[in-house]
Amino acid sequence: MHLLSLGTLVGGIGLPLLIMRPPVPTLLAITVGNSLVLLALALFWQSVMRLYGHRLSPWALAAPPLLWLALCTTASFRRSFDLRVETAMVLVGLLVALPLRQLLRVPRETKSHQALIVVGSFHVACCGIRGALTAFPQLTGWQSVATTIIPFEMMSYVLLWPGLMLTLVAERAVLQARAMALQDDMTGVMNRRGFWQAAETLPRRGLLLFDIDHFKHINDTYGHASGDVVIRHFSRIATATLGKDAIFGRIGGEEFAAAFSGLSAGALHLHGEQVRLAFAEASRARHIEATVSVGLAAPTTLDLPLGDQMAIADWALYRAKRMGRNRVEGPPADGPAVPPAARAGAG
Ligand code: GH3
Ligand code: MG
Ligand code: MG
Repeated sequence: MHLLSLGTLVGGIGLPLLIMRPPVPTLLAITVGNSLVLLALALFWQSVMRLYGHRLSPWALAAPPLLWLALCTTASFRRSFDLRVETAMVLVGLLVALPLRQLLRVPRETKSHQALIVVGSFHVACCGIRGALTAFPQLTGWQSVATTIIPFEMMSYVLLWPGLMLTLVAERAVLQARAMALQDDMTGVMNRRGFWQAAETLPRRGLLLFDIDHFKHINDTYGHASGDVVIRHFSRIATATLGKDAIFGRIGGEEFAAAFSGLSAGALHLHGEQVRLAFAEASRARHIEATVSVGLAAPTTLDLPLGDQMAIADWALYRAKRMGRNRVEGPPADGPAVPPAARAGAG
């Protein structure tokens, strides 16, 4: 964000210097004006790189304007308009192509991202056309094309390129905040809200509820920090064991839930058993003995609301606890289809 603002400021000084001659002395326009514009484009490039987690490179910022100033120390460069235009088109094209390359490499999450790709491609194409027309003056018919696109190109550099980048920064911040609101920061899996959102509309939904056994005892014996380690450990094991088809989240302190679409009660039971066994075995190896109880709610012919189905899985979990813990249970086979609390609207 700061890089972008600085880029806009530097470009806002450099561009008028470059195009307002006279009254700006030619040498000042050529040296300082161009250097500032190149610095502004380097700042825009680096702000895109920072947005995607790359470190700021001071060299990337300094090299383009310093290179230009160094070239300006030679009299032949200052004298040759064509050489200056060709060099400028290469440098400007590069400083637009580099952020464009970064934008093309990552998923296109927002409209501003897509628009930046279009605008960046337009800038690179303009640099190519103007560079080629300077290098090959015999292409006389095309000179008017170059003159026509210059105002659009300038307007795009001043308004669209930095403006769209600013929008992209804001849109990504919103996306990240939204993702964070649905994520449990201790384990990195979905939190209760995230799980609910993802599982609510799942067709033919089956549920597994996990609750670590005697967790209070683990906290009391090994300390709260070790309890946290056990929670993270369980989350990692369950995520790896359940696989990509599961919607998995931490819905409470030491309670987790998994939702699947279209799995039979038998397949759900197998998933629950696999997690239970993997957790018990891994915990033994880590010298903090811990087990988990699992409650199962199979898909119903008419998809139940998630709240009602959670109540069934909770009921099944309660049974697993009562029957000795460290086991997977469903609701009683001869019991009512929906527990009384769920029918009253609890969830
Ligand atoms: P049960 O086998 O019946 O599930 O017994 P339990 O001791 O696991 O269940 P109980 O609900 O009595 O205790 C859960 C404990 O989990 C109480 C709470 O202090 C602890 N807890 C909740 N969230 C966290 C957390 O984020 N970290 C740690 N370390 N402990 C937590
Ligand atoms: Mg609990
Ligand atoms: Mg527990």
